[in-house]
Amino acid sequence: MQTITVPEKLITNSIAENFKDVYTPHAAMPSPMVWGMHKKIIKVGIWLNIIAVALYVFKNPVKAFKATAKLSGLRDNLRDNHPIIKYARVNGKYYYTFNAPGWPSKAFNKFIANNLQKLEGSNAHHTLDTILFGITKKCGYQCEHCFEWEALNKPETLSRENLLSVIHLFQHAGIAQVQLSGGEPLNRFDDIIYILKKIKPGTEVWLYTSGYHFTEERAALLKQHCLTGITVSLDHWIPELHDAFRGKKNAFEWAQKAVAHAKAQGLVVCLSLCATKGFISVTNLGQYAELAKSWGVSFIQLLEPRAVGHYADKDVYLNKEQISLLENFYTEYNFNAAYNEYPSIVYHGFYSRRLGCGGAGNHYVYIDTDGDVHNCPFCQRKLFSALHGSVQENLRLMAQGSCSVYTNSSPKI
Ligand code: SF4
Repeated sequence: MQTITVPEKLITNSIAENFKDVYTPHAAMPSPMVWGMHKKIIKVGIWLNIIAVALYVFKNPVKAFKATAKLSGLRDNLRDNHPIIKYARVNGKYYYTFNAPGWPSKAFNKFIANNLQKLEGSNAHHTLDTILFGITKKCGYQCEHCFEWEALNKPETLSRENLLSVIHLFQHAGIAQVQLSGGEPLNRFDDIIYILKKIKPGTEVWLYTSGYHFTEERAALLKQHCLTGITVSLDHWIPELHDAFRGKKNAFEWAQKAVAHAKAQGLVVCLSLCATKGFISVTNLGQYAELAKSWGVSFIQLLEPRAVGHYADKDVYLNKEQISLLENFYTEYNFNAAYNEYPSIVYHGFYSRRLGCGGAGNHYVYIDTDGDVHNCPFCQRKLFSALHGSVQENLRLMAQGSCSVYTNSSPKI
């Protein structure tokens, strides 16, 4: 790996001063977060909406009430009984996580109906919330942790019609959200626009991107075709270290520009961090959060490294102390009012250790660049092809067993 010289002032000076000079050439962006009375009023609206959906689904007040109470209990367990104290408000919609559609919307109602039915065991078909779909093998980056490493830059096997037909099949199975990834999905920009034009209503579409070539014009076109948001991979708050992790000069600058263009268009923005052993420290997590706040993003996603793809056979799993630091970070920045203006933290490891894996057809699946379905991006086992057979039957079979058991250390696959 390339040797990096970290400018001394980045380590020794105060965070705020460094940000002003190095990371925010323009004024810090306003926070999209809402809290206090504003949040309380919205919470009432959301729960009234959930009750209305429950009554519509069950046509029976007792059943509707029971299912709503169960949903509320499940959400509380997911957060270790911490109440949500803030939402992100973007373009007139409210988001408590980037894995659920914004409220109010058709996609939100579908998401709630699916989950209520699942809790009551009353839906005739197996449903999912989200698919993460790798739509291209092309990518000019060389990221340390890339899980699609073996497939990168091989010939494409899926036409744009294939991409759309897979998405339609999963829409039929009930998904409320599609996250398009890769490779770098922007390498198929025209096909993304094609998908956005042809997708059936009621499903939110997100892009999972490095930010490379996410220009002002592209941001405007994507917004015009109803893209909901982008998740930008950012793996360090120090530009040189992010570039080194991504194996690409100016990767940090591209990520920063992508966030600015997306925000200018009213897209929801999430930053995704692969929290490696070398990265995890109170200082790095704090500085990362400062950076995310100054860029005005809504969410930070924490991913734990796995020994797959480019990390295959490497000793990348986190130990108990590192996981504990991530959990403290998640809890502090989400549930302590002192951090109201900071983005919400989304940490799948936290949820999975309490309620089990959300992948494996429970809430989401990963579809690779050949159209093969996996439990999640990190489980490199092709379970079935989305192009053949009954998606719903395959999902039902898939949900009978997840790939890994979460313990107090990173899961071994
Ligand atoms: S992680 Fe994404 S951006 Fe990085 S090499 Fe893999 S596909 Fe490209």
